[in-house]
Amino acid sequence: MIKATGLIFLGPPGSGKGTQAQLLSKLAGIPHISTGEILREAIDLQTPLGQQAKIYVERGELVPDSLILDLIRERLAQADTEQGWILDGFPRNVNQAIFLDNLLSELNHRSEHVVNLEVPQEVLVERLLLRGRKDDTEETIRRRLQVYQDQTFPLIEYYRQQSKLCAVNGNRLPEEVTESLTKMMKG
Ligand code: ADP
Repeated sequence: MIKATGLIFLGPPGSGKGTQAQLLSKLAGIPHISTGEILREAIDLQTPLGQQAKIYVERGELVPDSLILDLIRERLAQADTEQGWILDGFPRNVNQAIFLDNLLSELNHRSEHVVNLEVPQEVLVERLLLRGRKDDTEETIRRRLQVYQDQTFPLIEYYRQQSKLCAVNGNRLPEEVTESLTKMMKG
């Protein structure tokens, strides 16, 4: 028996997945799990995880899987995920995606939709520069987009083969994107 179904956000840095994930989580009353946010908080609080992750996040590299996988396992096993969940920033490479598939079947959860928010590259760079988060310097942005191309982009094909991929045009007003996403979740 499936206990919970979830939504996975793919999409490059700057595609708006964090904004949309947060909104949908409020609308649907299910938790928003952002690995980027978890890591930034750990870095600010200087926890052991934060101390290990800092150098990677500042360079725009992925942190090693060993820092992320247990964290996801523990988070998805918490009781508040039983009505569903939204993952933002995980999985980010093929190893993480395979881990997640195994974890979800262990927990009797299922990923129903995998959303790829599509935004042209030049718009992404513009948005990220405007956003000005701590790790949004021009050099890190370039690095993060490259890491996305090399490691995360292959997941689009991975989920297409599982017939879970939903491409959504992210180059529109945020409320238009939200509308498409809520329709998708209902449909
Ligand atoms: P963005 O999508 O804008 O790059 P995130 O908040 O998702 O921002 O991630 C910020 C940083 O946190 C990434 O550049 C990376 O260093 C790290 N990170 C987040 N999620 C993961 C993950 N699943 N695996 C490895 N590193 C991650």
